[in-house]
Amino acid sequence: MIDQAEQFSRKEVLPLSDRLDHQEEGLMPSLIRKAGDLGFCGIDAPEAHGGFGLGKNLAARILEHLSLNASFSVTYGITSGISQFGLSVFGTEDQKAQYLPRLTTGEWIGAYALSEPNSGSDALSMVTRADQRGDKWILNGTKMWISNAKWANFFLVMAKIGGEKVSAFLVERDFPGVSISREEHKMGLKGSSTARLVLDNAEIPLENLLYEPGKGHYVAFNALNIGRFKLGSMSIGPAREAIFQSSGYAKDRKQFGRPISEFGLIRQKLADMAAYFFVAESCLYRTGQNIDDAFATRDKTVEGMRSAAEEFAVECSACKILATEMESMIVDEALQIYGGYGFTEEFPLARIYRDSRVARIYEGTNEINRIFLADRFMRRVAEGKAKGTFSGDSFISELAGKAYSRFSKDQVVLGALSDLTLLCYAEQSVRIRGTRLGGLAQVAADRFTKWANAKAAFAFQTVTGEAVTVPAPRQSGTDELAENVLERQAPLLSL
Ligand SMILES: Cc1cc2nc3c(=O)[nH]c(=O)nc-3n(C[C@H](O)[C@H](O)[C@H](O)COP(=O)(O)OP(=O)(O)OC[C@H]3O[C@@H](n4cnc5c(N)ncnc54)[C@H](O)[C@@H]3O)c2cc1C
Repeated sequence: MIDQAEQFSRKEVLPLSDRLDHQEEGLMPSLIRKAGDLGFCGIDAPEAHGGFGLGKNLAARILEHLSLNASFSVTYGITSGISQFGLSVFGTEDQKAQYLPRLTTGEWIGAYALSEPNSGSDALSMVTRADQRGDKWILNGTKMWISNAKWANFFLVMAKIGGEKVSAFLVERDFPGVSISREEHKMGLKGSSTARLVLDNAEIPLENLLYEPGKGHYVAFNALNIGRFKLGSMSIGPAREAIFQSSGYAKDRKQFGRPISEFGLIRQKLADMAAYFFVAESCLYRTGQNIDDAFATRDKTVEGMRSAAEEFAVECSACKILATEMESMIVDEALQIYGGYGFTEEFPLARIYRDSRVARIYEGTNEINRIFLADRFMRRVAEGKAKGTFSGDSFISELAGKAYSRFSKDQVVLGALSDLTLLCYAEQSVRIRGTRLGGLAQVAADRFTKWANAKAAFAFQTVTGEAVTVPAPRQSGTDELAENVLERQAPLLSL
């Protein structure tokens, strides 16, 4: 299915990029329908309701290859992911039977509505309210930034019962009182729909309350945990495409009588891009495997599924931050390889660059994820559940262990602790994979470790104020890594 996903992206989606950016009538929904026909719209949904029931790891790999065009990817990612996950985990059998088959076939498009004009990061300060009147919930409020709004038939909406208890509701577009405002005029992701969902005395059947009253934050945040992990895959998809395009360009473009791919500073960029991709990929699919293992060992009750998703909340945040920041660095260097042509709309990098920027903002900004990560990890340390993470077996883990003894709620300290934690996780992940695969994987791991050690030393100084000597780097492998990328026009290795 991974190959099929890449073929779908290359044959069906990428050739339509310009038309998608103009939001040509009916085009995106027809692509989602095609994806549904191929089984992509419910890859990790339960088989009983039209899904494939695949593990999160394989589903994320498929998502990566369906993400070469980011506008398609966000549309697809939300309808097949965050809008369905809450329903799959917290829905009653009747609710699942009513909505999942239409979403998993691509007949319907789903959306997830948490944010409001005045509550973004502070999502629980939402003011959309729900009140029971007779046999209906009456919802009033405006949900902002709702991806897929223009096309969605189904919205997972968070609102406060009586203005107090955050609760989740299954809302159909055609329910009375539901409407969509104009499209936001965005800097990127122009092919995706982002608009407000307006609920004006919207009438929702009583049975469309999802899970329990006052427990909507469980639904919202559990969906977000897995959503963050999946956003990691959605971020390295465009990074993969940026590597493909820019390595091809570097071979073709000649200056000073030679292909620019022969110049040391261009080769350095290609080698860095390979190493950044390698680290994001290694963290993501290590986490995916751990989540799958946790799901396999839990009972299939709501509590079992919820605790499995929650257990890896720290790693999901680490993946979101790492993958989106690696994506930004890869895409930025890829555009630089194109020189002035990269700055025009005639070449693919301008779109990839514009589209990639938002990944550091949504599904929890990277600042909010950093604060959450360090805080949550400290709780794990206090509960004795962090054994092995800072085992002192690397420069970074040693620094991280020492730095956590100075834990404080000061945000700058939290940010630096979070950096140490995710660098530690990343360094472990590439080391494990580098040792297992050897060869170029080991070279990429060493290159990343050199970069990560310097970043970790800076973060350690921020927490402690103490100077620290960074270990001498091992091989940097510029030519070997660059040559491999140029030859294959792809990231270093595939899993
Ligand atoms: C294209 C797009 C699609 C989206 N799709 C959806 C969707 O489908 N459904 C949905 O519900 N939402 C969606 N969102 C909303 C998105 O999740 C929010 O934009 C995001 O959570 C940030 O909220 P905000 O924009 O209100 O920024 P704010 O929360 O106002 O943040 C502004 C800045 O302040 C920082 N900040 C905020 N609080 C703190 C703090 N405590 N400490 C330190 N820094 C802080 C932030 O990191 C950020 O840099 C989408 C947004 C965009 C742009």
